[in-house]
Amino acid sequence: MSLTDAYDPQNIFAKIIRGEAPCYTLYEDDDTLAFLDLFPQSYGHALVIPKRSAARNMLDVDTEALCKMMVTVQRVMRALVEELKPDGVQVAQFNGAPAGQTVFHIHFHVIPRFAGEGLGIHAAGKADPAELEALQARLVKRLQQGG
Ligand code: AMP
Repeated sequence: MSLTDAYDPQNIFAKIIRGEAPCYTLYEDDDTLAFLDLFPQSYGHALVIPKRSAARNMLDVDTEALCKMMVTVQRVMRALVEELKPDGVQVAQFNGAPAGQTVFHIHFHVIPRFAGEGLGIHAAGKADPAELEALQARLVKRLQQGG
């Protein structure tokens, strides 16, 4: 997948936005959606996507959608920090397959980092659904409190 290929509306995140595929939603507004990564690289690994922008990466996303994503990234990061008390948080975003991108709808990773714990392998081990559900409940509650 090159940086300039056309947007594929059948990508998994587009399906999630249309309600055709499930996700563990953490936060949603008119423009953005945040949900748990199914193959987390750390406990609490979340993703933030734009809902109205058919963009694959930072090159083709419109500035307004990008800014709105960053507001949600900060909101989710604050909730993750308050709820999970990580020692750090990594924000990552990949453009094109050679850079590590596997889903071609622009997204930011928000990855809590815990001292002494390495980063899990990217998009590899699927999380236990019960663990994701429990984590979702904690984080949704925290986000509703304005965290
Ligand atoms: P990237 O490799 O930057 O494109 O990131 C895509 C991310 O989406 C990876 O971290 C995957 O684990 C994650 N992912 C893939 N499919 C799903 C899904 N259905 N729900 C949640 N996360 C997903």
